[in-house]
Amino acid sequence: MTDLPDLYQELIVDHNRNPRNFRVPADANRTAEGDNPLCGDRIKLFLRVQDGRIADAAFQGSGCAISKASASMMTQAVQGKTEDEAERLFKAFHAMVTAPVTNPAEAAALGKLAAFGGVRAFPARVKCANLPWHTLRAALQAPGDRVSTE
Ligand code: ZN
Repeated sequence: MTDLPDLYQELIVDHNRNPRNFRVPADANRTAEGDNPLCGDRIKLFLRVQDGRIADAAFQGSGCAISKASASMMTQAVQGKTEDEAERLFKAFHAMVTAPVTNPAEAAALGKLAAFGGVRAFPARVKCANLPWHTLRAALQAPGDRVSTE
């Protein structure tokens, strides 16, 4: 973690300490559960999808700082997005934790999520960062499903 730029590290620490959208919405209509047994991260994601748009996103669960911060920032990033936009963001995030982002449009779409680019140097943490996004995809494509990084 010491290799991450300070600003990015601060973002992750902040979202881990004060996770945003850490709640159970009463009106969620899509949920999925994600599990990263390698690290012990577990997440339950709640979405309210209305007219093809993610009107609300929230989560519950426990895990390491990376997984919790990633879930927190993901729920913020997808609020108001269409399902297609969320899928594009999933792909951009997934690509970013594997290789540096070279496409400026993709970098702009990722915004603060770039904080997780630093996990590239820590292969074991890539699964922690990706878990909430895989869970998001499950909630959108196969609601009620349970995904595992293993
Ligand atoms: Zn983890």
